[in-house]
Amino acid sequence: MTRLLREDFRLEPASCFVDANCPRYKAVIPAEEDLAPLLPYLNAVAKVVFYDPAEPVLIFKFEGRKVAVRRDDVRISDVRDIEEGKILREKVARFLEELWRKRDEITPRHEPRTLPPALTIYRHLPQTNCGRCGEATCLAFASKLSTGEADLSACRPLFEEEDFAANQNELLKLLG
Ligand code: SF4
Repeated sequence: MTRLLREDFRLEPASCFVDANCPRYKAVIPAEEDLAPLLPYLNAVAKVVFYDPAEPVLIFKFEGRKVAVRRDDVRISDVRDIEEGKILREKVARFLEELWRKRDEITPRHEPRTLPPALTIYRHLPQTNCGRCGEATCLAFASKLSTGEADLSACRPLFEEEDFAANQNELLKLLG
């Protein structure tokens, strides 16, 4: 398994509704061969949002986008057009191929992964709605954390204020 992804790919609308002024697609890239053996290694090193080894499917964050890896293909979210799709295909293919080459140095991780629900995360946030994370409320930030669209480090009070040290520990444990 040296070349994992095919050169050709297609764009599919990201949802039923496509804004003509700002269309968004997902790039669907067929695999050269079965990608399932790669998933436990990816689960060990990538920023994984979801992993179901039974399906099997793994979703991870890559340069602000979600990338879903299945046996037969890789899907990259939030792609603007074919040119951007080509660049992202190249980057993701390089990342996965490098990972596969180095797999002997990685301890594979086989257990499933999901992020906790927004309300569970919210319970441990400062709940001051200060807005420093870029979201209007702590609950909005918790929603983004629960889908892997935000990074905990954006909540500065959690890391800077002594009062929230215990909350920080809980959230670091919850979010892995
Ligand atoms: S920075 Fe933290 S405390 Fe402030 S609104 Fe965002 S999540 Fe809430």
